[in-house]
Amino acid sequence: MEVSKIVTVKNLEKSYDNKKAVKGISFEVYGGEILGFLGPNGAGKSTTINILATVLKNDGGEVNILGHDLKKEAKLIKRGIGIVPQDLAIYEEIEAEENVSFFASLYGFRGKDLKDRVKEALELVGLYDRRGDKPKTFSGGMKRRLNIACAIAHNPKLIIMDEPTVGIDPQSRNHILESIKTLRERGATIIYSTHYMEEVEAISDRIIIMNEGKIIAEGTKEELKKKVDDEITYSFALDKPNKFEDKSLYEVDGVTKVVLQDGEANITTKKSKDNFNEIISKITQSGCRIESMKSIEASLETVFLELTGKSLRD
Ligand code: ADP
Repeated sequence: MEVSKIVTVKNLEKSYDNKKAVKGISFEVYGGEILGFLGPNGAGKSTTINILATVLKNDGGEVNILGHDLKKEAKLIKRGIGIVPQDLAIYEEIEAEENVSFFASLYGFRGKDLKDRVKEALELVGLYDRRGDKPKTFSGGMKRRLNIACAIAHNPKLIIMDEPTVGIDPQSRNHILESIKTLRERGATIIYSTHYMEEVEAISDRIIIMNEGKIIAEGTKEELKKKVDDEITYSFALDKPNKFEDKSLYEVDGVTKVVLQDGEANITTKKSKDNFNEIISKITQSGCRIESMKSIEASLETVFLELTGKSLRD
């Protein structure tokens, strides 16, 4: 079966003043998928997403969304997409229902159609019972859910979300993740940026990992994990991490990556090599004592660590 391409991005570039935030990235988004955009703060996720959402202009590259060229037909693109921005776009002083109704009416919905769209959107995010209340009485998580209802009430084919779960309670967070899956079941395509790996693991069909303005990996969860499946990472907590040096560890046969972070030495090695004792003795030879040890199985975190030498955590 031919998979439809909803978004095609080629060599996308964007700078702020002299600083390159997005450095010539290319990717595609396929119909009906949830694409997780993962990366640490500052990776360039928001910049990329805001360009796709037509709210920021790119310097270079080409973008096609829903068959329209971004440069020539931004207006048509805008009608077909739903944008959930990081900052809330709701009105605190008017009822939840009125908020959603206002945004849906901007897309030409009237009368019963409009009512139906508003009801469905509020039900999706679990706020239909609170439709008569003003957002100023809502928790942060509820406001975010209302923000989503406003963005999707017009039934967009493509929904773009920028870190929709930052800083909210776990219940609202789960609710939002469930809503995203429901939207996909109803046929929408979703691009979703986050720096929470567990969210991406839970809901994404495919993942793009960004770091420092570039795409450093792309694939399904399984494909990304396979990259590091034949390896294991040991994490040693050290009493004197400042004495630790990575050089001698790279001499051990099978060791592929050594990263010192938060007082822990993370050492990645091929599983096939019988080198554990040698690793331990190299660490102790440097004058450090090992206080505890754990092994980390392949996860997106290890993929990220492997690719960048950095942790995704803030
Ligand atoms: P992310 O969403 O992954 O956290 P951003 O796209 O927000 O990343 O930022 C990418 C880089 O661009 C960062 O270095 C950030 O400081 C910089 N940046 C983002 N927005 C602006 C802006 N309006 N002016 C100047 N620099 C910016």
